[in-house]
Amino acid sequence: MKKSLALGILIGIVAVIAVFIFVTRYSLLVTKPTSDTRLQAAATINPLADIVSQIGGEYVNVTTILPPGASPHTFEPAPEQISSAQNVKLFFAIGHGLDSWLKPIVDSVPNSLTVTVDRNIQLRDLPLDQRDVDQPNQTVDPHYWLTVANAKIISQNIADALTQADSIHKDAYAANLSSYLAKLDQLDKDIKAQLSSLSKHELITHHNAWGYFSDAYGLKVVGTFEVSPGKEPTPQQIADLQSKVKQYSVTTIFSEPQLSDQSLKPFVQDLNLKIAVLDPEGGINNMGYIDLMRYNAKTIADALK
Ligand SMILES: [Zn+2]
Repeated sequence: MKKSLALGILIGIVAVIAVFIFVTRYSLLVTKPTSDTRLQAAATINPLADIVSQIGGEYVNVTTILPPGASPHTFEPAPEQISSAQNVKLFFAIGHGLDSWLKPIVDSVPNSLTVTVDRNIQLRDLPLDQRDVDQPNQTVDPHYWLTVANAKIISQNIADALTQADSIHKDAYAANLSSYLAKLDQLDKDIKAQLSSLSKHELITHHNAWGYFSDAYGLKVVGTFEVSPGKEPTPQQIADLQSKVKQYSVTTIFSEPQLSDQSLKPFVQDLNLKIAVLDPEGGINNMGYIDLMRYNAKTIADALK
């Protein structure tokens, strides 16, 4: 009798524990955030998507619209890019002509909001000889994400937009912002140290993406191979570049993975130059913003030391 009572109590305890475990695990499962509860966001280019994901953390799902290896200057969205954006609530864009192909995508998504991340950014005018003759209204250089100081402003703008769209998680966005800003400060110090004692400072680049970077880190873009990205230079432009190579004793031309180097190669061979690859987008090796900036700084430092 005593034995069966003890056994009964034991079975009872085990049953209570089992029910308890089942209930807690089940409730954990149902309250765990799923991809459906996260704020759905998209960014036009990879560096911007990475910064959104750094600030958004676990509460934001962000996709990149520009496919890896594509140039934002020549991209046109395909139907699958438009259809895959249909659940997006917040679109993040650079603006100033870089990603105007976002408009047909946004227009197809009702109740979405577009945030251009340029607020408080000191925009730079394109030098006259680096303006695209086919786009006479394009007078502002849109490549402003390529300095760390501007990435800090962009991060703040992204945090503000996420907080406005999803105020429940504003503390998490503020905490993520402050830890990311600290990483960017370190990055800026490292790049300044790396580029402060180069023997040369002049760059000839594939297209005009590196003006902000050069202004911030004591370099100068003296020539651009393709003034209109994706279009071959004219014989006059080639002759101008050849004289700049001689004038500044240039040894390296900075190419980019998003643009074809078909017409660059004979130019480089004729003048016995080297090619180094800079990457403004970071889509190919799936580099985040910080790794991308470190990669570009190292590439320039190695070529100009
Ligand atoms: Zn560009």
